[in-house]
Order: sequence, then structure tokens, then C-alpha cells
Amino acid sequence: MNLVLMGLPGAGKGTQAEKIVEEYKIPHISTGDMFRAAMSDGTELGLKAKSFMDKGELVPDEVTIGIVRERLAKQDCEKGFLLDGFPRTVAQAEALENILAEIEKKIDYVINIDVDQSVLMERLTGRRICKKCGSTYHLVFNPPSEEGICDRCGGELYQRPDDNKETVKNRLDVNIKQTKPLLDFYESKGYLKNINGQQAIEQVFLDIDSLLKGLV
Ligand SMILES: [Zn+2]
Repeated sequence: MNLVLMGLPGAGKGTQAEKIVEEYKIPHISTGDMFRAAMSDGTELGLKAKSFMDKGELVPDEVTIGIVRERLAKQDCEKGFLLDGFPRTVAQAEALENILAEIEKKIDYVINIDVDQSVLMERLTGRRICKKCGSTYHLVFNPPSEEGICDRCGGELYQRPDDNKETVKNRLDVNIKQTKPLLDFYESKGYLKNINGQQAIEQVFLDIDSLLKGLV
């Protein structure tokens, strides 16, 4: 069961990743975890990646791809894996195809959790935080009983600058632009499975689950 998980910010990718790895007992391989592990293991590639990150520079593709290659060759990936956050570009996706061919594997599915941009906007701009005690609310999913006021301490609720409309819209636009060629690439390979992410969390997982049941 070799999977790549995709989805825009706010699509619920993290939640579904947790459910998939719990149900199917395959390792969840996120880029961040992979880098941290390579660095703490002190592998040559891990140290290389660290030297770029310490300088505040992007880790070059060849280093990232090397780390992915090492990770996918590990024992725990024998039954499968869930890649999350890699690949980000078509060049990386092509490199991944080569890595998998070397170890005689292939991707089964690229699962894309699909959510309309307007819904993502609602999800991502709804967060409110209490100035006094730091409690968090969401205007749609976890609203305070009185608008603008913390249920716990009566403090004033505010919106973080990162959560404002313009910032969120820019972030989504950038993500959509970057993701589109990758989705097209995987569509052309026949791996892409779009899952409707605008349903309840449990239903989204049921849809993914019925797809994956076909693989075991
Ligand atoms: Zn409060």
C-alpha cells in the first residue's frame, strides 16, 4: 500500500493521515519528520540538509530526494507507506518514480482531499483566540456562546494576523498554483483519486477506507 496524500491547507489532511496509518499500520512519512530523523541520526544527507537549514536556505532537491530514498528503503516501509508533504513539484514526483522503480515498487494511489476554496477560506479564517487565557474558538466549528467573548474567562477574542482573509487567500492561491501541475502529473499517470473533503471527517475517512480496502 504505497500512498501519497495531498490536500490544501485546511482540507483535513493531517486528521486523515492519522486515521489511515492507524487503520493500515503503515508509516506516516512527512517531510519534516524525515528531515528531523536524518539529522538526529547524523546521516551524511541529514547533515547536509542541516547545513542548508541552519543558513535559512531551502534544502536542494538532490538532498531531499536522497533522504526520501533512504527513508523508503527502511524495513518498516515493506508493507507500504503514506507520504505527506513530498513530492511538492513535478521534478520531485519524477524523482520519486525513479526511486520506487529502483526498489521495485510503485505508487498505488495519490489521494487528494478535495475541498472548494470558499470552504477552505471559511475554515481557515474562523479561528479566534482569547487575549487573556489563550483559549481558541472557531466561528463555525466551536463558536463562543457570546460573540467576541471567551466562555472561560470573559476575555476579548481576537483573530491572529496569519488568519486574516487576505493572508489566507494568498496562502491558498500560492498552494493551488504549486499543486496544480503535480495533480495533473498524477492524473496522467492514473494514480490520482480525488476524495470529497467537504463531508464529515468520518465520512471522508470511510471514502478513503473503501478505496484502500481494494488494495489489501
Ligand atoms: Zn479566555
